[in-house]
Amino acid sequence: MDFNRAVNVDYPPSYYADTRKYINDYPAVEGDIEVETAIIGAGYAGIMTALGLIERGHTSIALLDKNKIGWGCSGRNGGFVFGGYSLSPHALVKQLGAAKAKEIYALTSSAVELIRKRIKQYQIDCDVVDKGVIWANWFKDQKLLFDEQQFMRDKLDIHWQYLSPEELSAQIVSERYHGALFEPDAMHFHPLNFALGVTQTIASKGGLVFQDSEVLHVDDSNSIKIVKTANGRVLCKNIVFCGGGYMGKFYPRLCRTILPVATYVMTTEPLAEQLDELLPSQAAVYDTRFAFDYYRRLKDHRLLWGGRISANTRTPADLENLLRKDLARVFPQLAKVKVDYVWDGWMGYCRHQMPEIGQLSENIWYNIAYGGHGVGPTTMGGEMIASAIAENDSSYKMFKRWGLPWNGGIFGPMAAQSQYWWFEWKDWLKERFE
Ligand SMILES: Cc1cc2nc3c(=O)[nH]c(=O)nc-3n(C[C@H](O)[C@H](O)[C@H](O)COP(=O)(O)OP(=O)(O)OC[C@H]3O[C@@H](n4cnc5c(N)ncnc54)[C@H](O)[C@@H]3O)c2cc1C
Repeated sequence: MDFNRAVNVDYPPSYYADTRKYINDYPAVEGDIEVETAIIGAGYAGIMTALGLIERGHTSIALLDKNKIGWGCSGRNGGFVFGGYSLSPHALVKQLGAAKAKEIYALTSSAVELIRKRIKQYQIDCDVVDKGVIWANWFKDQKLLFDEQQFMRDKLDIHWQYLSPEELSAQIVSERYHGALFEPDAMHFHPLNFALGVTQTIASKGGLVFQDSEVLHVDDSNSIKIVKTANGRVLCKNIVFCGGGYMGKFYPRLCRTILPVATYVMTTEPLAEQLDELLPSQAAVYDTRFAFDYYRRLKDHRLLWGGRISANTRTPADLENLLRKDLARVFPQLAKVKVDYVWDGWMGYCRHQMPEIGQLSENIWYNIAYGGHGVGPTTMGGEMIASAIAENDSSYKMFKRWGLPWNGGIFGPMAAQSQYWWFEWKDWLKERFE
C-alpha cells in the first residue's frame, strides 16, 4: 500500500514498513494513567503478553513502546514462524534430558499453533503462507540430514520430512544444496503487519496502547509502582519488562543480562517469473550451516534474503554487497539483481541462549532475550506471563533454571563475535574438506 510511504518516517526504512496495512496512531503517555498492569516494550513479547492478559479478562493494561509498535526486531525479522529456541535442540536435550527437553520444545510448537489460530480468529492481515520451512543441506553429507531427522523424531517427537537432492531441486533450483529436511508445521508471514494487527485487537478490547513513550525510570519500591516517561507516569500493580535487544540501560537488573546482536535483511526488486523458476517452493528456507542464510518469497514476487550476525554496533557500510554475495552463492543468476530494501535489527540474546521468562520480585515480571528465534517463542512467553498474572499459574518457573546471567559487559560482544567467527570457520572447513 503506497500511502504508507508518506508516513514511514516512524519506522526505519524496510519493505515491511512500506507495506504496512494498519495505521497506528496510538498516543504517547501524558499525565498520570492508572492500570493494573504496565507492559514495557511493544515487540511480540509485550504484545503477546498483552493479548494473553486480555484473553484472560485482564483488560486493565497499558502497553508502552519508546518507538512504535513492532519497531524493534518484531517488525523487521525474517518472518519464519517455527518451533524451537535460539538454543539448539541438541543443547536443550543435553542440558535437560530428552523428556524435559521434549516438554519445553513442545511449548514452541503449541505457540505456532496458537499464532495460526489467532491470525484466523482476529483476522490479522499479514500475508501468512502456511507452507512449512525447508532446512536445506549446504553440505554433501546426507547422514547429517538422516541423523537430524532421527534426533528430532526420537528425542523431541518432531517429524521433519527428508527431501532427497532430486526432490529438493524441484523446489529450490540451486546447485548449492544437497537435499533437505522439511518442517511442515511451520509458516511465514509479514511480521510488522502481524504485530500491528494484534495490537489493533488489543486496543479494540480495551487495552491502552502508547507509542513514543520511552520508560526512563521505574519505581518499584511500593505496592503502587510508577513507570515514568518523559511526559507522564503509569501507576500500576504489575510491571512486565519486554524490551528485548533495544532495552538500553534504564533497569540495570535486567538490562545487564542482555547482549544485543545484529542481523541483516534485504529484499530484491519484484522478480516476476524468474522467482518462480528459481524458487518454486512457497516454503521459507534456511540452511544447515551455523552461519546460515534465510530467505523466502514475498507476495509481490520479491525475494527476502537475510543472514549474518554481528555484535559490532555498526552496520557494515557495504551491507547490500555482503548480502548480495551470499545470495549469488545460491542463485548466481541474481548476482546483479536490484535490491530495493536493506535493513538491520538488534536481537536481544542472553548468554545461555534461552529466553528469560520469570518474576524478579512481587508483581515484577520479565519476558525477554528471545535472540534470533523469537517469533513463535514470544507467544509462549506471553502466555506464561499472562497466565501467571491473571491466573496465578506457575509454568513460567520452567525457565528459572537458566537464570539471569550477566552479559559479560564490554567482553560480551567480543565473545559473541568470536563464537560466530569460530563456527563460520568450522562451516568453511566442513565444506572445503568433505
Ligand atoms: C533481522 C532479523 C531477522 C529475524 N528473523 C527471525 C525469524 O525469521 N524467525 C524468528 O523466530 N525470529 C527471528 N528473529 C528474532 C525475533 O524477531 C525476535 O526474537 C523477536 O521479535 C523479539 O521480540 P521482542 O518483543 O523481545 O523484542 P523487540 O521486537 O525488539 O521489541 C522490543 C521493544 O521494546 C521497546 N523498548 C525497549 N526499551 C524500552 C523502554 N525503555 N521504554 C519503552 N519501550 C522500550 C523497543 O522500542 C522495541 O519496540 C529475527 C530478528 C531480526 C533482527
